[in-house]
Amino acid sequence: MPRRPSFPSGAARVKRILKHTWAHLWFDTGLLALVEWLRGLRPRCRPLAILMYHRIVSPERAGQVLSHPDIMVDAATFRRQLAFLASRYQVISLGDFAAAAQTGTPPPRRAVALTFDDGWEDNYQTAFPALRDAGLPATVFLTAGLIGSREMFWQERVIGRVRRLADRPRLLRDCFERSGLGGLVPLLPVPGGGDLSGEGTAALIDALLEVDEPRVAGLLERLAGAEPAPEPAVSANSFLSWTQVAEMRQGGIAFGSHGTSHRRLDRIPPEQADDEILRAKATLAEHLGGPETELFAYPNGGHTARVVAQLREAGYRAAVTTREGVNTMATDRFRLRRINACEDRFRSPRGRFSRAMLAAYLAGLL
Ligand SMILES: [Zn+2]
Repeated sequence: MPRRPSFPSGAARVKRILKHTWAHLWFDTGLLALVEWLRGLRPRCRPLAILMYHRIVSPERAGQVLSHPDIMVDAATFRRQLAFLASRYQVISLGDFAAAAQTGTPPPRRAVALTFDDGWEDNYQTAFPALRDAGLPATVFLTAGLIGSREMFWQERVIGRVRRLADRPRLLRDCFERSGLGGLVPLLPVPGGGDLSGEGTAALIDALLEVDEPRVAGLLERLAGAEPAPEPAVSANSFLSWTQVAEMRQGGIAFGSHGTSHRRLDRIPPEQADDEILRAKATLAEHLGGPETELFAYPNGGHTARVVAQLREAGYRAAVTTREGVNTMATDRFRLRRINACEDRFRSPRGRFSRAMLAAYLAGLL
């Protein structure tokens, strides 16, 4: 897996040391447990922390993965996180929380819910066995139109093609320039440019996330033209099959909607956003039946008041964003906050998984 350096430099390192020290101050002294106990006395103030996972990557597949580092967790780290969560927290299903919140019932003390966005195939291969072993519930938000397909997100397609064209830097540069993206050339693996290590992949995807859809589509077309061979087998970057979804469901995993094709619902015309929501609902209903379509995760967190109204009308009970933070009973159920649980997030300055950091985030202290 492309990883960020375990020893970040400069300001990032100082920031991490400060955060780590702060987390340990609360955790080791028992102050954090005291805060949790005090909050428990007033049920309406009890926080619900929702962890947002995407991909759980096994070491065998790490080399083939083309995703942004901020959506990945190493399989061994994930098991460590689950063991800590099982030992210290009440891990509840997000659906149960949403149903209880609707009737005014607060979450239990130290409540945490686990969510997975997109519906990556590694959720079945790697996350599912770990969740089963730990006996913990989770909700997976499916990009309905991609489940059971061999398609990839544009992010992984761009990174795959750029990496394969790295030995033809002039052609690569030309594809970006002719797509009106010459400003991104310094990020490419070309002479005088960047590299596609974990940091480099993150920088290129972050920059492309700011570009409009047609321009990204044009870039992909040019990259495909420069490398006319078909894209290689993509199992390490593809999505669940409906058979895998059914097996996970039997094993206690719940499913929600993440739209049809992962378009940002706040950046497309309202009627197209409606279509994304309603087609996904129909697809999930066809494959899963009723109650599974009660929860929604906004792709890239993007939503508008109209999108929220459409979800309510379509019978959804709650929706999660990508806004960082914890929730209480007072939080809008259609704008629930989450904590991104990527590999880098809860690391000590030495690069190891830090229980104190995770605990501080879950308590809303970081
Ligand atoms: Zn997503």
